[in-house]
Amino acid sequence: MKVDYHMHTTRCGHAVGTMDEYVRQAIKLGLPEIGFSDHLPLSPAPEGTWSCDWAMQEKELPEYREEIVRLQTKYPQITIKTGIEADYFPESIEKTKSLLANYQWDYVLGSVHHIGPWPIDSSVYLDEFDKRDLYKTYEIYFSLVIAAAQTGLYDIMAHLDVIKKYGHRPSEDLSSLYNDLALELKKANVAAELNTSGFRKVAAEIYPAPPLIQKLVEAGVPLTLGSDSHAPTEVGMDFAKALELLNKFGVKEIATFTARKRQMVPLK
Ligand SMILES: [Zn+2]
Ligand SMILES: [Zn+2]
Repeated sequence: MKVDYHMHTTRCGHAVGTMDEYVRQAIKLGLPEIGFSDHLPLSPAPEGTWSCDWAMQEKELPEYREEIVRLQTKYPQITIKTGIEADYFPESIEKTKSLLANYQWDYVLGSVHHIGPWPIDSSVYLDEFDKRDLYKTYEIYFSLVIAAAQTGLYDIMAHLDVIKKYGHRPSEDLSSLYNDLALELKKANVAAELNTSGFRKVAAEIYPAPPLIQKLVEAGVPLTLGSDSHAPTEVGMDFAKALELLNKFGVKEIATFTARKRQMVPLK
């Protein structure tokens, strides 16, 4: 079975298309299960955070959830899960916790988009890379992903190496960073996402990089699939390439979630 657990909606302010169109595209592709995972409200993002207004408003949350229920009734031929993508801000973890606790989710995607106030995957602040040591920046980024996983707030860690989005790659060998990350995710009992949106970015590579996927597999971290689609045509995009990688690394099952309970299901 294949799933697409990472789909956005217009509520985040930078996606297009109706939710119906995302669902219809998934049906057209023959996906048996999908999940919406729009951005949990960031408002207020921690003080001093550089401009980032890509999340839905708090008042939109109930309607977001109702819409998914409506879609599930309208399209019984596909399973539609209620997910959410929640940023990890070390400073406002209690706020995140209380927002998440208001609703029953099928799964929560954990995302690190910031190092301190800096949104690392924003094209507006790419200069910041030039001011920092790249390897050190990767090290800090991965340590934040680990810290996020350790909070226990998240079921799936999203786009593990999105820091490479605009092509910033250290020349150093990353295998010890990859190794630590994989072992810590295993210890934290979270799943990791193969996110195909990396293929569509400057990085032109899946998140995470294949050598990191290999470490995750070796460590026994459960994997799942997401397109990070911000348009209906992006649903399930490049899944053939992701499946090829899973096959290459001998992965036979993927993680699915219902009411935050993980279940491994055979890929075929
Ligand atoms: Zn994200
Ligand atoms: Zn996303």
